[in-house]
Amino acid sequence: MSIGVAKTVPEVRQRLSEIRAKQRTIGLVPTMGALHAAHAALIQRARAESDFVVVSIFVNPLQFGPNEDYLRYPRPLEKDLNICERMGADLVFVPSVEELYAKAQEVFVDAAHLGNHLCGAFRPGHFRGVTTVVAKLFNIVQPERAYFGEKDYQQLTIIQRMVSDLNLPIEIVPVPTLREPDGLAMSSRNAYLTAEERQAAPMLLRALHASSRAIEEAGSRSVAEAKAPALRLLQSDPRIRLEYLEVVDPAELQPVTEITGEVRIAAAIWIGKTRLIDNLAARPGGQH
Ligand code: AMP
Repeated sequence: MSIGVAKTVPEVRQRLSEIRAKQRTIGLVPTMGALHAAHAALIQRARAESDFVVVSIFVNPLQFGPNEDYLRYPRPLEKDLNICERMGADLVFVPSVEELYAKAQEVFVDAAHLGNHLCGAFRPGHFRGVTTVVAKLFNIVQPERAYFGEKDYQQLTIIQRMVSDLNLPIEIVPVPTLREPDGLAMSSRNAYLTAEERQAAPMLLRALHASSRAIEEAGSRSVAEAKAPALRLLQSDPRIRLEYLEVVDPAELQPVTEITGEVRIAAAIWIGKTRLIDNLAARPGGQH
């Protein structure tokens, strides 16, 4: 395999100082591995826009709660490296936990209000783990651009705000959500679903579409009215347990009381032991 693999921070810094000395631009794609077609799309986008593409693969313990899937999260490293190579990445950074957290982390990067709702309300400390590890990766790699998927809309918004609030000289490039043919957003966690559970999963997007139609086509300004058709669909399938369905302001991520402009409809559901999230933009009248 010809793709570069670095396991330590000094190795990455050394390789990238050579790249920077040649005035070449660096694009970073942070991931937790178990790569699929959506990760591949992020890498391809970085490839098209940067001279040198770094993919990081790190299952970050700081962003998992005590009862979450940190230990069972898939780690198919050889397969991941092949995908990175095929997509044209130049360097894969695969640090160990000890490499990134040599000492117990004492200083964190944390968002104030953006993490209050949606996933933040159900995963205490999750976004603090994400912003802290992404800030570390940004400082290690110092990319011109970094690529994040809209599928994790709250994460994307918090990272965009982190870069703006902390004056980091990095452009955050949002990448649209990639889906399976039946609409299920691609996710490493989809592999946890049994065949029976997998059949229930496309209901999540169907429910979000039902809400977005209520806003865009029926012109509903009431949040309760907009949520009603989605709730009906989600509650119609006993395999699905709803965690949240919210209609929020797209930049501040706070629930709106009335739908007067663009909003994000976001939801999380459980099917068996698997948690799935998805989101859609909607605006009254329907023009985006
Ligand atoms: P993860 O490995 O799950 O942490 O994801 C790494 C990056 O890929 C994040 O920026 C995700 O938002 C992005 N990503 C994961 N799944 C999708 C998807 N279905 N569509 C677009 N981006 C995605």
